Amino acid sequence: MTAVRKVAIAGSGVAGLAAAIQLAKAGVQVDVFEAKPELGALGSGISLQGNALRVFDALGAWDDIRAAGFAFEGLNVRAPGPGAPVVAALPDVKTGGPDYPAAMGMPRPELARILLEHAQKAGANVRFGARITDLDARANEAVAVTVDGEPAGEYDLLIGADGLNSTVRELIGIQTKPEPTGMGIWRTFVSRPAEVERSELYYGGPVYIAGYTPTGEDSMYAFLVEKAQDRFGVSDEEATRIMLEESRAYDGPWNAIRADLEAGAHANYTWFTKHLVEEPWNRGRVVIIGDAAHSCPPTIAQGAAQGLEDALVLTELLVQRDAVDQQLWDDFHARRLPRAKAVVEASVQLGQWQIDGNRDADAGGLIFGIAQQMAVPA
Ligand SMILES: Cc1cc2nc3c(=O)[nH]c(=O)nc-3n(C[C@H](O)[C@H](O)[C@H](O)COP(=O)(O)OP(=O)(O)OC[C@H]3O[C@@H](n4cnc5c(N)ncnc54)[C@H](O)[C@@H]3O)c2cc1C
Repeated sequence: MTAVRKVAIAGSGVAGLAAAIQLAKAGVQVDVFEAKPELGALGSGISLQGNALRVFDALGAWDDIRAAGFAFEGLNVRAPGPGAPVVAALPDVKTGGPDYPAAMGMPRPELARILLEHAQKAGANVRFGARITDLDARANEAVAVTVDGEPAGEYDLLIGADGLNSTVRELIGIQTKPEPTGMGIWRTFVSRPAEVERSELYYGGPVYIAGYTPTGEDSMYAFLVEKAQDRFGVSDEEATRIMLEESRAYDGPWNAIRADLEAGAHANYTWFTKHLVEEPWNRGRVVIIGDAAHSCPPTIAQGAAQGLEDALVLTELLVQRDAVDQQLWDDFHARRLPRAKAVVEASVQLGQWQIDGNRDADAGGLIFGIAQQMAVPA
């Protein structure tokens, strides 16, 4: 017996689809409602740490993920200027344990496609172009869900995995919202020069951080992290010009990145945000997970990993228990809140040290400490 038999999920990001896979595999009827009309085909790349890879294995998706991504170990730090000298080669903690690579780069659309296929294969029903607009959590026994203004059925549980600007979070009265951290990021998806075999970061020069991460034999994503400013309205040509200009100080593989930008690679801009819902993530039969519950700058690339862990822990409890009771919620929060809090606080701190120009801070020690924590399964 599972604690739930019929579950609605808002959002088909990594957190929503991971929850859908686990519940559907356990025989639960799962309806995923996704506001977007279809799975996005465009997008940049993502770094997935070992603890995220361990979750993919639990979902049964690891073989497909491994085949579609680029596994790597360690991190190079380079300096701006001629030759882009490597000034440090840092080892990684294997946060997923010895059975998984320390990290893997993936094209985001590939990750989305693989998780969707696994969710559908497990039996989850995924509806695109379906935005959850309202809910009614009656007497703590069930939740009625409204999609695009129309009743969409009654469920034992609604999982709000609907991202940063979560509607579900707002509908259950949680006031916490993402705030800008003061940093903005330019990203582009380009071809991978053969010499790029792991993430490389450049400190110094005109931006806070310049870097790139391999995502496949022929692909990688590159990024420039700068002071947040209002860049949202800029044209595609202006976006390319900014990335070209701000990256001129960086030599080495950045020459190939600039060549791809000049040949038409798209530049995308967004701000980093931070938030953590410190109160319980559920209200009766409604719970939020993933970016709906927490966000942070990707300074240690743990955002998606935390959303995946939320989904894994929640569904493990729902499948192993036979009631949705206070004990289940207490156990869920005890396993998830301190861990997500540690990641958010460390990620924000690392970004703040950059903003403050604090070169004496022990960034390496903080990153190592968090990695050690993540190496213990959630
Ligand atoms: C610049 C940047 C770089 C990052 N890099 C990394 C990285 O390298 N590694 C890493 O681990 N993390 C990284 N992250 C964080 C990571 O991208 C997120 O933590 C993760 O994608 C969140 O997944 P999610 O499933 O919680 O939410 P989302 O992926 O945002 O999915 C939410 C979904 O819900 C849908 N939705 C919204 N409202 C509704 C509604 N009312 N009804 C139905 N559907 C709805 C949306 O359309 C969306 O598809 C980065 C974040 C940023 C901003």
